[in-house]
Amino acid sequence: MSRKPSMILPVLPLRNLVLFPGVVMPVDVGRARSLQLIEEITKGRAQGARLAVGTQRDPDVDEPSAEEIHPVGVVAEIVKVVRVAEMRLTVVLRGLERVRFEGFNEGEKFPRVTCLPVEESLGSGVEVQGLAMAVRDAAKQLISLAPDIPDEAARIVDQAQDPARLGDVAASYLDITVDEKLELLGESDVGKRLQRVLQHLRHRSEVYKVKEKIDSQVRAEFTRHQREAVLRQKLKALQEDLGEGEEGDDLGEFEEKIVKAQMTPEVEKQARKQLERLRQMPAQSAEYTVTRTYLEWLVELPWSKLTEDHLDLGAARRILDEDHYDLEKVKKRILEYLAVRKLKPDKKGPILCLAGPPGVGKTSLGKSIARALGRQFVRISLGGVRDEAEVRGHRRTYIGALPGRIIQGMRKAGVRNPVFILDELDKLGHDWTGDPAAALLEALDPEQNNQFSDHYVEVPFDLSQVMFIGTANQIEPIPPALKDRLEILEIPGYTRNEKLKIARDHLVPKQLKEHGLDDKGMSLTDAALYEVIDRYTREAGVRNMERELASLCRAVAVVVAEGGTPKWNVDVGDLAGPLGPVKFWPEMAERTEVPGVTTGLAWTESGGDILFIEATTMPGKSQFILTGHLGDVMQESAQAALTYVRARSERFGIEPSFFEKSDIHVHVPSGAIPKDGPSAGVAIATALVSLLSGRRVRSDVAMTGEITLRGNVLPIGGVKEKTLAAHRAGIKRVFLPAQNAKDLVDVPKEILDAMTITLVKRVEEVIDAVLEPASAATPPRRPTEPASQPPATA
Ligand code: ADP
Repeated sequence: MSRKPSMILPVLPLRNLVLFPGVVMPVDVGRARSLQLIEEITKGRAQGARLAVGTQRDPDVDEPSAEEIHPVGVVAEIVKVVRVAEMRLTVVLRGLERVRFEGFNEGEKFPRVTCLPVEESLGSGVEVQGLAMAVRDAAKQLISLAPDIPDEAARIVDQAQDPARLGDVAASYLDITVDEKLELLGESDVGKRLQRVLQHLRHRSEVYKVKEKIDSQVRAEFTRHQREAVLRQKLKALQEDLGEGEEGDDLGEFEEKIVKAQMTPEVEKQARKQLERLRQMPAQSAEYTVTRTYLEWLVELPWSKLTEDHLDLGAARRILDEDHYDLEKVKKRILEYLAVRKLKPDKKGPILCLAGPPGVGKTSLGKSIARALGRQFVRISLGGVRDEAEVRGHRRTYIGALPGRIIQGMRKAGVRNPVFILDELDKLGHDWTGDPAAALLEALDPEQNNQFSDHYVEVPFDLSQVMFIGTANQIEPIPPALKDRLEILEIPGYTRNEKLKIARDHLVPKQLKEHGLDDKGMSLTDAALYEVIDRYTREAGVRNMERELASLCRAVAVVVAEGGTPKWNVDVGDLAGPLGPVKFWPEMAERTEVPGVTTGLAWTESGGDILFIEATTMPGKSQFILTGHLGDVMQESAQAALTYVRARSERFGIEPSFFEKSDIHVHVPSGAIPKDGPSAGVAIATALVSLLSGRRVRSDVAMTGEITLRGNVLPIGGVKEKTLAAHRAGIKRVFLPAQNAKDLVDVPKEILDAMTITLVKRVEEVIDAVLEPASAATPPRRPTEPASQPPATA
């Protein structure tokens, strides 16, 4: 192999660059010596001028000496020279041959060097061929992976047929350090050089693969975000197009409301979830409205808001007394309840239930308790509620679903610890849709009501701080399971005198104030108040009286407003104008004018009432007719009374054959009042004897009691209410079963003083005492004889 001749060429030092044989590369030239060199050698011919190109070891040296240039470089030719500025050229060089620099000489203008061509050893051809193929593949793979390698590199790699040149081209494109490149340039063994290049290529490919993987992860994350952002943008644009633009904005308020509502984490999570759903829904969909309404409920319920209790018993007593006359027993129990709460705030007390006729102050007591405790007050009515969902809410899947009444009450209260009145517990229904009482029990149960679940709200609500108070007119119909949880405080109704005091101290001042008459010196005489009590109302409570007083005040206020001067001191005679004619007359005298009519006493849900029992007879065939909407028990009781009377007809002076030839009709008027129960037995028997013996019943007596077939009198309920009603109606003497003696302790002394109470064991005791002696005007009935016919016998 002949050695190639050496050449002496001017040398261009490069900073940070390595030129390989077979590679074309643009180089920036700015140093004075280098510029001079290029100018000099390109004088006369722009292309083909040759020069030596080497890499300086230290890039910061401006005019490197011989030792400072790497000993292996290339002989290159100039492909093109482009002037980019006064003192700056871009020179495109093509590497021709690998050379070793020797014999440096500092020329006058630029250094020159002796270049000895490097003999490249090819080794075994097969191995090098194989390596070359591997390098080509690896290079192409790297080019496809590395975005910063121009695609034309692939073509150049393809064109480099000579394995030696292939190695150099690949090395030139490799993203490796200058030192690594110089090492490759200095390697004269082609096989070894290819091997090194292959290592570098593979390593770089690996690096790019890892980078690609990381990139794609980052990209995926980024795309997801970006896609969402784009979709949201589109959605907003669509909503704006549809004229729903503002909807999106006002959802922002919910954010604030959610924070303000101080929800439990569970509730907050639910609220945020719903808000997120809302944001993604078109505002016109039905689902949007449903979700929005639900979210409004969530943010408006008092999850954390509490009022602080005033537990000053003295003040509480004052407030209760201020608002209500008497009711000593009830007030005392309420104060006890408050005292226990004060000592043991977390003690789960019983639920108080105020029971009594309408208008006795059950609801207003509840309000007073709230006022005394400094709590909010809410009231819901359970009258007619038969569906569990009314208490516990409908599931949201139902159209128009709403929370149940308990949760509705809580929203109205606005705090988590109100006084909560459950009105009309005795009117709670029950049907196949579920038991509302059971749902109510759950709300009342201190063991589980801190997690009360309403079907609509779904997330649990804490009711444990609520003070529930029930009310009912009657105790009997309250569902038993519920009754077990209640401590019942009875308020039976007021006497005339109590009503007078209530009117004087509470109702009149209240009405005067409400009608703006409190500073005008208006007043009512006692007689006027009694007139209202007796003739304009007939009730156990004072609700209608309050209404009448309101009418009166309204009438006076109208006169004042029209500039007139009303009569400031209202007496009996002044009532008819504003209140109209009297509404109730004492009926007893009139009613009991004829034989066959007695006054019984009934226990109704509005307290007690008097009841007339009318019996009459006509020719017939022993029929016994009962009318007046009587319940089964009352009808049976009437049958028993008849049997008793028939069995004793002789004792009462009734002709025994009478019953075979006549029909008897018993009627109990006031069809609107449902009448049932056995307590009219005594009154019916008395009416029958009166009718058949022709002896009138005294007009000022009333009676109550169940009878047996043998005439024994059995005890009844509602003694207090019944005696109050009798007193209200002006009765002077009341007959009660002897076994009810114990109940008389509940009857106000005022009533006991005003009436005679006679306790009896047998019906005859009543009959003998109340029937007037037979008179000529009212003969005993004979069979088939009309009542108006003159008597045949005395
Ligand atoms: P209820 O709930 O028992 O049907 P309310 O509480 O509605 O009765 O009472 C009706 C009216 O009578 C209210 O204005 C109430 O203040 C008044 N009232 C009832 N009892 C008394 C009382 N003992 N003292 C003063 N006012 C009373």
